[in-house]
Amino acid sequence: MDSHLVAGVGNIYASEALFRARINPKLPARRLGPARCATLVQTVREVLADAIKAGGSSLRDYVNSKGEAGYFQNNFSVYDRTGKPCLVCGSPIRSLVLGQRSTFYCPRCQAR
Ligand SMILES: [Zn+2]
Repeated sequence: MDSHLVAGVGNIYASEALFRARINPKLPARRLGPARCATLVQTVREVLADAIKAGGSSLRDYVNSKGEAGYFQNNFSVYDRTGKPCLVCGSPIRSLVLGQRSTFYCPRCQAR
């Protein structure tokens, strides 16, 4: 996945959005096609909306104005779950480094 397309979204949200869209992170953005591109835009929105609802992620010392840590990290489907079973199909989650970012994905759900 070309990081230009998901610029500013961050590793966590990019991995989660690609998983929900069932898009392989190694797929070049130019080969995505309009239908899957639209799906990805939708899943990025969903992931960000869920993250905001959950109070953000506490992975980077995030604490809200009440001193509570965010808890979106409890909802990760693939992020930081290398080797653990996919919540959808049970395949072990894999990670790869693309342009210095770690990306996490399910090799079966995101086969293409
Ligand atoms: Zn899977």
